[in-house]
Amino acid sequence: MKNSRKKLVDKNKILQNMLATTMYGTFFGVSQEVVDTVWKNLTSSKGNSVTYISMEIGADRDVFHPIKKRLQEVDITGSTDPQLDSFIKKFLNGPVKIPNYGGGLGILAGDTLKSLADNKIPSVAISLLYRKGYFSQLVDSELGQIAWAKGWEPESTPTLYRLNDPKNKKKPLEIEIPFYDRDDTKITATAQVWIKLEVNNNLDFFVPQILLDYALPSTPDWIKDAAQNLYDSSSERSKAIQRRLLGSSVTVLMKTLGITSKTIHLNEQHGVVVVLHLIADELQSKLGPDYTIIASNDDIAAAAEKVSKRVVYTIHTPVKAGHDRFEKNLYAELGHSFCQRVLRLLAQDEDQPDFFNFTALAMKVNRATNSVSRLHKKVTMKQFPQYAEKITAITNGVHHLTWISDSKAELYNSFPELDNWQNDPSVFAEAMQLIKNKKFRTYMDQAWFADTRKLTDYVNDMLINHRKQMQETWIDPPNFLSHLDEKECSLDPHHFTIGFARRFSTYKRADLIFEDIDTLSDMITGYDHPVNFIFAGKAHPSDEPGKILIKQILDTQEELYEKSNGMAKLVFIPGYDMNIAKLMVAGAHAWLNSPKRPLEASGTSGMKAALNGVPNISIMDGWWVEGYHGGKTGWKFGYEQPIEDTSLSEDPSSLLYAEDSKSFYKIFSDVLETFYNEELRPKYLDKCIMNLALNCPIFNTHRMIAEYCDRYGLTLPKQLETKITKLKKMYSSDTYKP
Ligand SMILES: *Cc1c(COP(=O)(O)O)cnc(C)c1O
Repeated sequence: MKNSRKKLVDKNKILQNMLATTMYGTFFGVSQEVVDTVWKNLTSSKGNSVTYISMEIGADRDVFHPIKKRLQEVDITGSTDPQLDSFIKKFLNGPVKIPNYGGGLGILAGDTLKSLADNKIPSVAISLLYRKGYFSQLVDSELGQIAWAKGWEPESTPTLYRLNDPKNKKKPLEIEIPFYDRDDTKITATAQVWIKLEVNNNLDFFVPQILLDYALPSTPDWIKDAAQNLYDSSSERSKAIQRRLLGSSVTVLMKTLGITSKTIHLNEQHGVVVVLHLIADELQSKLGPDYTIIASNDDIAAAAEKVSKRVVYTIHTPVKAGHDRFEKNLYAELGHSFCQRVLRLLAQDEDQPDFFNFTALAMKVNRATNSVSRLHKKVTMKQFPQYAEKITAITNGVHHLTWISDSKAELYNSFPELDNWQNDPSVFAEAMQLIKNKKFRTYMDQAWFADTRKLTDYVNDMLINHRKQMQETWIDPPNFLSHLDEKECSLDPHHFTIGFARRFSTYKRADLIFEDIDTLSDMITGYDHPVNFIFAGKAHPSDEPGKILIKQILDTQEELYEKSNGMAKLVFIPGYDMNIAKLMVAGAHAWLNSPKRPLEASGTSGMKAALNGVPNISIMDGWWVEGYHGGKTGWKFGYEQPIEDTSLSEDPSSLLYAEDSKSFYKIFSDVLETFYNEELRPKYLDKCIMNLALNCPIFNTHRMIAEYCDRYGLTLPKQLETKITKLKKMYSSDTYKP
C-alpha cells in the first residue's frame, strides 16, 4: 500500500516535469526548465547557436522515441488531468511515421539533430512540412515499383506542434515569404510554423525542428502544390519553387522567432537561397532601403564575403543529380530582379551560359566546405579545383541510440567494460577486451540470432500477407517466393543472410552480384551453403533506370532459386523506411554495398550494421575505406585504383559490372566458408566484435558533431567542451585547423 502510494506521487512528479508552456503553446515530454534553457540559448544576443537547414529530416518514432520509452518505463498510461491525459495517449498510441525524408541525406539530418540534442549543443533545424511526404512504394512483380502519395496527419503525430501566434493565441503563427514575377510584382506565400521537438535520450535537452507548412488557402496554388511532395520533380519549376521555399524561409523565420544563430549550416545545397537573403540584409543595413538600385557589384561581393563567414556547407555527393541547376529564364519568374543579378554574379554555371548553378553558389559563399568521407574529399577537390584549399572532410556517422537493436543494447548493457556506451559511444573501444571473453561471445551470438529471427519472421509474415493480398487486390506479389507453398517459401534464420538496402540508383548497382547467376548458384550448391538475400529500397519516381533496377532484382528471383535448387532465396521488401532498415542492419549476417567507386560519397547504412557488430562486404568506397581496417571488420571487393576522370562517369558502359562482380564471387566463397565452417566460425565472430571495437567509437554522429563543433565556432560550457574534446580525440577525419 505504502509502496504504491509512493509510486503514485512519483508518477505525478514525473508528469509535472514533462509539461512546459511558452508563448507559442504547450509542449509535452520535457520540463519547463529545459524548454526555457533551449529557447534562451537560441534567442540570446550572443548568437551562440547553429541553424541547420535541410530539405529532408528523417526521424521516425518507431526507431527512437525517448518520451514514449520513459512513459513505459514508469508505467504511466493516463492522467486525471485532461490535457496531460490526451498528451499521454497521443505519445503512447499516436502515429510513428513522419514521412519527411527520402533517404540517406534526411536520416543523416535526423541522426545529427539527435546527437546535437544528446550533447546539448544549442541548435535549431529548418525544413518543410510536406503534407504528402515522400512517396510510398508498392511493388508488383509485373509492373515493378508503383509510387503513390500517402497522406499523413501532423496534427495527431506525437512530438509535432503547430505554434500559436503569441499576439493572438487562438490563431496559428504564420510567416510570409515573398515571390516576385517577371515585373517584380510581389506574390506572397504564407506558411504556418510547426515545430518538432527532437528530445534527447535523457529528456533533458532538445533540438527544435521547425517545419513550414505551405498548404494554406492564402498561398497561391502553384506554390502550394510544389510544397506537397518532398523532391517533387514533376517539373523543373516545382523543383525550383521547393528549393526557394526552404532557402527563403530561413531569415523570415529567424526574425519572427527571434533566433540569433551566427552560424548557418547547409546540409547539402538545397537551401542555399538563404545566402541571397543574408546578402540582401547586409546591403540593406549598409545602403538603406534603396539597396537594390544603388548597390554596386563590389558592394555585393563585399556583402557575400561577410555572409560567407556565417555559412558552413556540407556537400554530400559527386553525382550530378545531387546538384541543382536552374534555367535563368525559369528563375526570372520566381525571384526579384535584384536576386537574378546576385545569382549572375555568384552562381553562373560554367558549362551552360543560360543556367544558374546552386552548388557553385554554395561552394563560393561559405567559411567551411565539408565533404563526407576522406575519399569523398579527394573527389570533391578534383571536381572543384578552384575551391580545393577550403574543402575538408568530416566523415558521416549514425546515431547509435537509434540504430542499435534492442537485443544488442541489452547485451552491451550487461558488460561493465562497455559502461556508459549510451552517453559516450567512444566507450566501444573497450570492446577490444571482450574479444576473448567466452560469455560475451556466447551472448553476442544469441543476440545476433534473435535479431536474425526477427528479420526472417518479418519477411516470412510479409510473404504470406502478399499471397493473401494476391487474392484481394490487383497487385501481384513482388516476390516469387509468395507463389510457392508456405514451407518452401519461408526463410530460415540459420541460413547465411545478406542484406542490401538503399536508394535504387544506377551507380549503386543493386544487381551487381547477380551479374553471373550460374557462378553464384554453383558456389551456393557446390558447398551446400544456403543463402538468404534480402533487398529493399526506393527509386525516385522519375528515375527510370533506378526503377528498372528494382524490376531486375524481381526478375532474378526465380532463376536464382531454380539454379540453386532452392538454396538461394532472394526477397525484396517494399516500402523501405527506418524501421525496415533497423530490422535489416541488425538481423543480417553481412551488409552488402556495391556502388561504383567513388560515387558513394559516404554511405551510412553500413555504419548502422557495424554498430550491431554486422560485418560489411563492400566496394572500397565512401566510409568503408576508413572502416575496413585491413579486413578485421569485413570484406572488400572491386576496383580500388586511383580516381580518374572516367571514375566519375555514370554512363552504363563505365559501371564496371564485369570486373567488380567477378571480384565479388572471389571473396564470397570465403565469406560463406567462414560463416558455415565450425572451425572457422570463431573468426566470423571476431570480425563482429572488431566492428564494435574499431568502428562503433568512430562512425557515430556524436563523434561527427564533435568534429563539426570546430567548424561551428561555438563557445561551449567547460564540461561540454571536455566531452566534445574526448569524442574528437577518437578520430580526425581531416587535418582541419580553424
Ligand atoms: C540509412 C538509410 C539510408 C541510407 O543508406 P545508404 O547506405 O547511405 O545509402 C536510406 N534509407 C533509409 C530508410 C535508411 O535507414
